[in-house]
Amino acid sequence: MLHHERLRPPPADYPADEWNVIEKRFHPEFLAQLETVMALGNGYIGMRGCPEEGGPNAENSTLINGFYETRSIIYGEEAFGFAKTGQTICNVTDSKIVKLFVDDEPFSLPDANLLSYDRRLNMKSGTLDRDILWETSAGKQVSIRSRRLISFPDRHVAVISYSVMLLNAEAFVVISSEMAVNGPSIRVDSDDPRLAKTFSGRVLYPRASYSKDRRIALCHATEKSNLILTCATETALQTSCPYSYKVVHTEDFGQAAFTVKARPDAPIEVTKNIVYHTSRTASADEVCGRAEWTMDRVTGQGFQKLLAAQEQYMDDFWRRSDVQVRDIQEDRTKRSTVEIQQAIRFNLFHILQASARAEDAGVPAKGLTGKAYEGHYFWDTEIYLLPFLIYTSPQIARNLLIFRYKMLPQARARARQLGHRGAMFPWRTISGEEASAYYAAGTAQYHINADIMYALRKYVRATGDERFLRDYGAEMLVETARLWLDLGFYSHTKGGKFCINGVTGPDEYKTVVNNNAYTNLMARENLRYAAQIVESLRTNEPDAYRALTEKTALVPTEMEAWRRAAENMYVPYDEKLKIIPQDDSFLDLEPWDFKNIPADHYPLLLFYHPLNIYRKQVIKQADVILALFLLGDDFPVEAKKRNVDFYDLLTTGDSSLSSCVEAIIAAQIGDIEKAIRYGMAALLMDLADVGGNVRDGCHIASMGGTWMMLVYGFGGMRDNDGTLSFWPRRAPQDNAILRFPVTYRDNVLEVEIGVEKVEYALREGEDLVIHHQTEEIRLTREHPVAVRPVSRM
Ligand code: BGC
Repeated sequence: MLHHERLRPPPADYPADEWNVIEKRFHPEFLAQLETVMALGNGYIGMRGCPEEGGPNAENSTLINGFYETRSIIYGEEAFGFAKTGQTICNVTDSKIVKLFVDDEPFSLPDANLLSYDRRLNMKSGTLDRDILWETSAGKQVSIRSRRLISFPDRHVAVISYSVMLLNAEAFVVISSEMAVNGPSIRVDSDDPRLAKTFSGRVLYPRASYSKDRRIALCHATEKSNLILTCATETALQTSCPYSYKVVHTEDFGQAAFTVKARPDAPIEVTKNIVYHTSRTASADEVCGRAEWTMDRVTGQGFQKLLAAQEQYMDDFWRRSDVQVRDIQEDRTKRSTVEIQQAIRFNLFHILQASARAEDAGVPAKGLTGKAYEGHYFWDTEIYLLPFLIYTSPQIARNLLIFRYKMLPQARARARQLGHRGAMFPWRTISGEEASAYYAAGTAQYHINADIMYALRKYVRATGDERFLRDYGAEMLVETARLWLDLGFYSHTKGGKFCINGVTGPDEYKTVVNNNAYTNLMARENLRYAAQIVESLRTNEPDAYRALTEKTALVPTEMEAWRRAAENMYVPYDEKLKIIPQDDSFLDLEPWDFKNIPADHYPLLLFYHPLNIYRKQVIKQADVILALFLLGDDFPVEAKKRNVDFYDLLTTGDSSLSSCVEAIIAAQIGDIEKAIRYGMAALLMDLADVGGNVRDGCHIASMGGTWMMLVYGFGGMRDNDGTLSFWPRRAPQDNAILRFPVTYRDNVLEVEIGVEKVEYALREGEDLVIHHQTEEIRLTREHPVAVRPVSRM
């Protein structure tokens, strides 16, 4: 069932374009939605797609990944071990403001007489470009062109190029390049639990402010989380027209205003360099000093050089990551190939923007495109994003896993607090502390521990990075295996099997249940992998093993206990239905009255009390179905089919994490029509605002799921057993060609699934062994291998 099949396509005048998302008219009614869609980021800095001129804005956020303020979580009724401190990502200095006045008339988008308008998220250059022709009230025509970029190669840098030219008259032009620390946030009263809590007072407190010629620096700190931030701007102007300028600043505001006596056809070109530096430990002076060093370096470069570096970075990214689709028949998909290509690139581009330079931080559920989910990191990263990153940008994947490793001290402390051995990673966090205020759908999602270990295994297998395993992975494996062993027990009522009670699985519409199948299956993998890796270290790398035992006080009998728990893991199974029940009590629940629920009452969480939802057979997102995908090799196609038939009818897809997984499983069981339907919902989640909440930020997990849907679903990639194989899927009348690269152990493999054949080519690296279904293929650079025919379902 696809309850979320209520696509809200963008307005008709969004032209299809493979490399750009284009807005051809200014659409005030899509302001909030487009701020998200057109947001820029590099994983460290993020800016919503608000106009330079300071408005109109729905939510004008500039965010720094991991820059948050804390607040006490107030519970009506407290209990032991509840998370005490909330963490909320906060707006930082808005540095992108460039206001324009022509003969004192302000240029303001909603009021301006726009003779032409073109704004585009340029995914080839990694920029946000705008080209406008404005006619002032006096009939003066003004061309305004801007390009904004947040640098990928230069983590702390953003730059705006803003050019103005009078076309038919002279005029006095003022260009005011500004920066401002937002006043108190507006408190949004909403029952939507997904939105960020807002602070009612000031969040950023001034620590320093100064200007030196056209360079202005504002330094602020948070009060409770003790984070410090410097934002510096330096604005340069180039023109053949006469001009003067004035610079002013206060603690919260900076302005370099240029007054130009503009002649027709004489361009006025402004370049605004922007730098952000943040720290947990450094002083205000030090953070300002860092900002200055970076600024000294970039001001010398000019916009064109920064742009060239950005384009180079993007070329490299697309070479490793671009998934291409050609010739999809219009009538099958009801969307042109170009639109599909645009949506694919849009998803991949936003993943890059959310993660590329995160370094020492995670990936927030919305990336840096909005504050919903408070800038928190969830399992979304490991299960939905890391597969893409592992197979296209393994260095980014590595950084994200190291970031998890750095949370181990807090995870150990949290385990102690909950009475466990080992380490317990937080369900949602920025700082490493658990920040979930609702334990039933938060802390109880123990599966995140196994999810992180699942991603770790995938990373190590795909990269061969054994050093990572030694230096970071093994320790996390020991501590998570200990957690599972401690959490579960051998239950007499279940034939002495190892059971795990009182947990919440991925489906947040069933909380604190016994033997959630997903959790047990993933915990089993975690335990097995931990035993295998630690044993192998003991045998093959005694020094590393000794270091590990010192760090963790590991004793050899522990591995045996993990293995025993894994081999005896209880996995619910219903003999009559021949399916895996989601948990011990799921099949006993009352059916949900799907027929009489109005279509506009989804997502259910906004319309029904949790208890109402918990006691019925209704599912928020793929749960058992996700396990069948992640651990797919363990389940025959017939078993997958039976489970899909059962769960599909009960799954609302109220979480955006669902459709991509349902699409993959549908492809695996040969239901290509359904795979395309669910796949389109995932693909268009953000561009077509499928969930109706794109205004609050992109659904980064679903974006990662889009890649999985194409590569694991239609490409049929399998990697569970340590080898790489492909079982491509296509529909009978389909004429589409799907092409994608995969980075595997320093090789770049290109897979092309054509109409009559599948071709495997080694683009980088020396030689590589893969499988087409069960057939072994040895690839060298000189010899691509074509296999025919493609199995059509
Ligand atoms: C989903 C979770 C997810 C979170 C953040 C929730 O709605 O149920 O699985 O981790 O959103 O994306």
